[in-house]
Amino acid sequence: MSILEKITSEDAIALEDKYGAHNYHPLPVVLSKGEGVFVWDVEGKKYYDFLSAYSAVNQGHCHPKIVGAMVHQAQTLTLTSRAFYNDVLGTFEKYATETFKFDKLLPMNTGAEAVETALKLCRKWAYEKKGLPENKAQIIVCENNFHGRTTTIISFSNDPVARKNFGPYTEGFLKIEYDNLKALEEALETNSNIAGFLVEPIQGEAGVYVPSEGYLAGAKALCEKYNVLFIADEVQTGIARTGRLLATCGNCSCTDKHCSGTPEVKPDILILGKALSGGAYPVSAVLANDEIMGVIKPGNHGSTFGGNPIAAAVGIAALDVIKEEELAKNAFELGELFRTELGKFIERCTIVNAVRGKGLLNAILINDTEESSTAWDICMALKENGLLAKPTHCNIIRFAPPLVMTKDQLLDCVSIIIKTLQQFEK
Ligand SMILES: *Cc1c(COP(=O)(O)O)cnc(C)c1O
Repeated sequence: MSILEKITSEDAIALEDKYGAHNYHPLPVVLSKGEGVFVWDVEGKKYYDFLSAYSAVNQGHCHPKIVGAMVHQAQTLTLTSRAFYNDVLGTFEKYATETFKFDKLLPMNTGAEAVETALKLCRKWAYEKKGLPENKAQIIVCENNFHGRTTTIISFSNDPVARKNFGPYTEGFLKIEYDNLKALEEALETNSNIAGFLVEPIQGEAGVYVPSEGYLAGAKALCEKYNVLFIADEVQTGIARTGRLLATCGNCSCTDKHCSGTPEVKPDILILGKALSGGAYPVSAVLANDEIMGVIKPGNHGSTFGGNPIAAAVGIAALDVIKEEELAKNAFELGELFRTELGKFIERCTIVNAVRGKGLLNAILINDTEESSTAWDICMALKENGLLAKPTHCNIIRFAPPLVMTKDQLLDCVSIIIKTLQQFEK
């Protein structure tokens, strides 16, 4: 096998096209290097990364502290399986549970696996603690959810592209409208076998839908009233992305001053992934307190790679970086600036209808039909102008840069985005 060093973008794309399954539709850019908020293509062109690998790279590309921890651990011990103990996992579990204020953590690798874990945990709790009749447990989910790609998870998706011809589907899920407390209460009232409510604090993949003020707290209160578990999927919104350590954070563990005063929404089960490793390695986790996590006994669940020493070392470093560099605070402040600056442009333009989001998880709504290629064309033009972003759901463009961005860089990006959008004014 020859070394790939001299490959051109065209050749790299042709290779993937010919030898890889076509399960994505990437922007035609071939990246070969990343540092902080920047990535470079194989021809050496530099870009601002405004996707951050779907919010996995919150700490910036190739953060030296995270890479350093990973390299050190990789040279020491990579994998033991959970058949034996390793000397890093416990430290990671202690650090993460103290950070997020839960008794226990169950480590997995990908976000989808962590969601599956949470679903299994919720069902087992419902049978063994709540006393639901065997095989009757229902979990409430929201319309337009995105929780991953496994057969069970796509069973409760309503995206036809993600679902079609992958049946038969897993039973036991009930779908209600997002951001609708009445719908939740009705579902809880009319069904006696509800075990949990699985929700994204902001629906990222659906197009960065921020629910109304008080929705999460209201949902949590309803869950308590009906003795069902509130399960927060913070795979995308967690780890400082939305300007707080967690999007569900109120007066919680985070040292971020912007948290105080907001109502605390403490999930019964918290799902983390993506930025839990800063994008260096697949690391995911489910957190819960003892009365819930205690239902999991040896042999009930597991993963060969879950909790491996590299993942544990990387997870510790990734959380350290979030705290040391005050990335929640930075995301909060830059997010306000981003929406204010874009908002000024939107007031007097025709191409964008709105900007929305929290912290540095934002999206703009393009003024065109869902079937139009305008959002894609804008992303192609943004690429030409040195900024990488991707449409989500046709006419929505998500903007989620690494949180290590500076104010000057953000303003530079705003001017690239505005200049590009102006090319599309009608
Ligand atoms: C990305 C994502 C997942 C799935 O994570 P994978 O690592 O891709 O399996 C689950 N939930 C949410 C909210 C996500 O954004």
